[in-house]
Amino acid sequence: MFAGTRRTLLLGAGASLLAPPAFAAEPTLADDGYFEVWEELAAGVAVIRQAKPFHLQPIGNVTVIEQSDGLVLVDSGGSPGSGRRIVKLIRGNRPGRPVKAVILTHWHGDHPLGLGEILKAWPDARTIATEATKAHLSDPKTMNTPAAPDSEANAKVVAKFKGFAAYCRDTAAKAESAAEKAGWAAGARLFPQYAQDMDGALTLAPREGFTERLVIDDAAAPVEALFLGRANTDGDAVVWLPRQRVIVTGDILVAPIPFGFGSYPSDWLAVLRRIRDFQADVLVPGHGAPMRDDRYLSAVRALIEATRDQVKASVAAGLDAQQARAAVTLDAGASTFTGGDPWLKRWFASYFTDPFVVSAWKEAKGEPIVQSLGG
Ligand SMILES: [Zn+2]
Repeated sequence: MFAGTRRTLLLGAGASLLAPPAFAAEPTLADDGYFEVWEELAAGVAVIRQAKPFHLQPIGNVTVIEQSDGLVLVDSGGSPGSGRRIVKLIRGNRPGRPVKAVILTHWHGDHPLGLGEILKAWPDARTIATEATKAHLSDPKTMNTPAAPDSEANAKVVAKFKGFAAYCRDTAAKAESAAEKAGWAAGARLFPQYAQDMDGALTLAPREGFTERLVIDDAAAPVEALFLGRANTDGDAVVWLPRQRVIVTGDILVAPIPFGFGSYPSDWLAVLRRIRDFQADVLVPGHGAPMRDDRYLSAVRALIEATRDQVKASVAAGLDAQQARAAVTLDAGASTFTGGDPWLKRWFASYFTDPFVVSAWKEAKGEPIVQSLGG
């Protein structure tokens, strides 16, 4: 996902004098649940998602909707390697059915970077996003991957992620808790694969943009792409399937830990209310397993509201940004998401609290929120 992983990884460096315990059998990347699996959701609707939800470098969920003349995808995978695996899963599970359209929920790399491989398999597919997302993906400065083949830039991307593997290995050796040791060791297994997956990654702009609503009609499975307001980014698309009563949220909803980079706190709350009001039978989050009730959505709303209000109070009391971050107390709320797991607690702070407080601070001060992954 993150252009900013390097930063968060480096911020996460913690030294310890404890020696690592010996393990009888090392788990593999497949045991970690990194690779995508196919899951049927409703009539003609499936999701392709990582077998386990949390990874240092995650891959966004891909929803597959079967219409009479082909398949509509929501998102495309997180890298060319991921895109190739997704093409294989589609061909295996929906043989002979072409992909006719891909709707990208937002610009963060873990959602659009499989698009090139999907278009190699189905070159005539429509590519669609909100106008704001289309603008981000049209700007080479937005992403760390080039818009056209560039061997020098590509070599840098691959080398960077290989370097993360070494960093994870070193940090695993020094980690204090078993959970953190296991987490860093999983990172050391993940990044060599991710570096390979990212080889040749290009940022491709979608051809079509929409501002409020775009419908891809069909008798059995009409698809409505909607912009309900700014939330996780300034251009999040939500996809509603009125016949199957499935709603696809992109990273407006992410499990097990919400992502707060470049988010719009009060608008995000309003969008979550609008998503709840659809009363969908199935919610497909941007990451994690599909949900059949709105308990998780309510927990995220409560978290956003409480955090935003704490930051607002800090601004009113004249605290500076650093003091406002230090004043945030989310212990009770955070444990809902992390279950007290020290590894998830670390990433809850890095992926949600730290970046969200930056956004809430700017909102309270009336300053513009910058679209960034923190890198
Ligand atoms: Zn994502």
